[in-house]
Amino acid sequence: MRRAAGIAIAMCGLAGVASGEPVDISSPFETLQIRVYDNAGLTADHRSQAIAAANSILSAASIDVEWHDCVAGAEPEDSRCAVPVDPHELVIRLVSIDEPEDTRLKRPLGNSLIDKRTNTGTLGTVFSSRVDWLAMKAGIAPSLLMGRAIAHELGHLLFGDLRHSREGLMRAVWTATEVRRGRRRDWVYSASDQRQIRVLALKRLRPRGSEALISMA
Ligand SMILES: [Zn+2]
Repeated sequence: MRRAAGIAIAMCGLAGVASGEPVDISSPFETLQIRVYDNAGLTADHRSQAIAAANSILSAASIDVEWHDCVAGAEPEDSRCAVPVDPHELVIRLVSIDEPEDTRLKRPLGNSLIDKRTNTGTLGTVFSSRVDWLAMKAGIAPSLLMGRAIAHELGHLLFGDLRHSREGLMRAVWTATEVRRGRRRDWVYSASDQRQIRVLALKRLRPRGSEALISMA
């Protein structure tokens, strides 16, 4: 997975010291961790392309992400998939729903669980069957639209609410015409959203070295 430039680069690096030996001044925080759980039975290529599309949107907002591709029901290849989720992580679950085709127009591509008392969210869902349907209507790759839907739900989780913006990726309604047209400004966070989401993503980072507590939970 391509790693985005941004937060990690701004906070990490190597600095020269008097001896001339480089010293690691890594950030005390991990990169933002996002797990993707596939309950829809997608191919690894499909997930990979969707994650790449979502990553490019987060990258445009200068948010560096480490993705974990966790296939539901399978022995996890990624060790991160085997430990409990902690409050610093975000989780996207991909689900396929068998429903009448003519009802899909009115149904959301995804949703997010938000705790309104704390204004936080950890779990977002993207319905792959609805994404496939809209992508087919618009004539674009389903994995591209899925990546955009993933980034939209991640926006809700980071904002900690379900509000929508008038423009950009966080707008409430995506039409087939907009999807087909593919204007860049429709598929990135708006400038205002980017500024806020970057700060909120930083607050979500987990301190390094806290893994032991997680695996014992
Ligand atoms: Zn939304």
